[in-house]
Amino acid sequence: MAENKDYYETLGVSKDASADEIKKAYRKLSKKYHPDLNKAPGAEQKFKEVNEAYEVLSDDQKRARYDQYGSADANAGFGGNGGFNSADFGGFGGSGGGFDDIFSQFFGGGGRGRSAQPNQPQQGEDLQYQMDLTFEEGVFGKKTTIKYNREALCKTCDGSGAKPGTSPVTCAKCHGAGYIQVTQNTPLGRMVSQQVCDVCHGTGKEIKEKCPTCQGTGHVNERHEVKVTVPAGVEDGQQMRLQGQGEAGTNRGGYGDLFIIFRVAPSKVFKREGAEIYLDKRISFVQAALGDEIQVKTVHGDVKMKVPAGTQTGTTFRLRGKGAPRLRGNGNGDQQVTVIVETPKNMNAEQREAMRAFAKAGGEKVSGSGKNGFFDKFK
Ligand SMILES: [Zn+2]
Ligand SMILES: [Zn+2]
Repeated sequence: MAENKDYYETLGVSKDASADEIKKAYRKLSKKYHPDLNKAPGAEQKFKEVNEAYEVLSDDQKRARYDQYGSADANAGFGGNGGFNSADFGGFGGSGGGFDDIFSQFFGGGGRGRSAQPNQPQQGEDLQYQMDLTFEEGVFGKKTTIKYNREALCKTCDGSGAKPGTSPVTCAKCHGAGYIQVTQNTPLGRMVSQQVCDVCHGTGKEIKEKCPTCQGTGHVNERHEVKVTVPAGVEDGQQMRLQGQGEAGTNRGGYGDLFIIFRVAPSKVFKREGAEIYLDKRISFVQAALGDEIQVKTVHGDVKMKVPAGTQTGTTFRLRGKGAPRLRGNGNGDQQVTVIVETPKNMNAEQREAMRAFAKAGGEKVSGSGKNGFFDKFK
């Protein structure tokens, strides 16, 4: 967790930059280095650094901590008394930047910090929900409603855990701090560490008369429903953050987020990469040689496509705008149609005769008969 990085430098902003300036710089840089858009070596690393910097600087708490201690780790600055830094023991993992970070901008997501003080408001846990989509749903998106169980705030006590009409009192053991200090003598010296108070479980409050609905936890399990608009153009493995749809927090810390992870089924007909859709189309050698107008499947319905005379097998044609929608607006990608020229099999006598005439007309000598007699014996 060595973090001596200059996040301000990473984003190219000054130390007193406003939240708006930071956001602007982040948007510009994350676009510039996004691995979907920038294939240059080092771009992905740069993208991660930009995300990491933004995750810290966009969050007031984290930014303040970073400005003060040179690290945004929640434990930084704790435990200075015993010369022992609890941050070394980890526990608060840094989150890597990724697609969801970019994505969340479009769905109103924002960063946040978890407090190291257990009796401070703590945001609820984030939840994950896997949503299975057909290939077409991935292309066109859909509106749907999902249901899942989550810890919600108890409505009877409004999350306090205390019986209505009563209030929680300050915890006698930790005097409201939510944690207690434990001192241990070790060969390395005296180590001071902090533990969550076992009486109030970190809330700093004791509930004398528990709420009958939630038994004092302040939370109840509920079946929760959310309407979801799946954006057109999502791909397998991408995720979307829905703010506040996770679990209830403690001490009025607010709800966590819900991450929807999309699983998009493959198509039997099409292949897809981003907004581009690929299709293999078989045509006869006559169509390839003479040219033809053929019917081609696209996700937007069948379209006619001209195959020019003399088309070789493996030639790819581009149908503009017939691909999947681009996730961030800007219309559709293309469909690329690769034609596979089929060599005729099991020709009848008349066809074989015509082929020989064709060869003769071109001055070509062919020794084959058109019958597969030799190999037929092995069938
Ligand atoms: Zn309750
Ligand atoms: Zn306590």
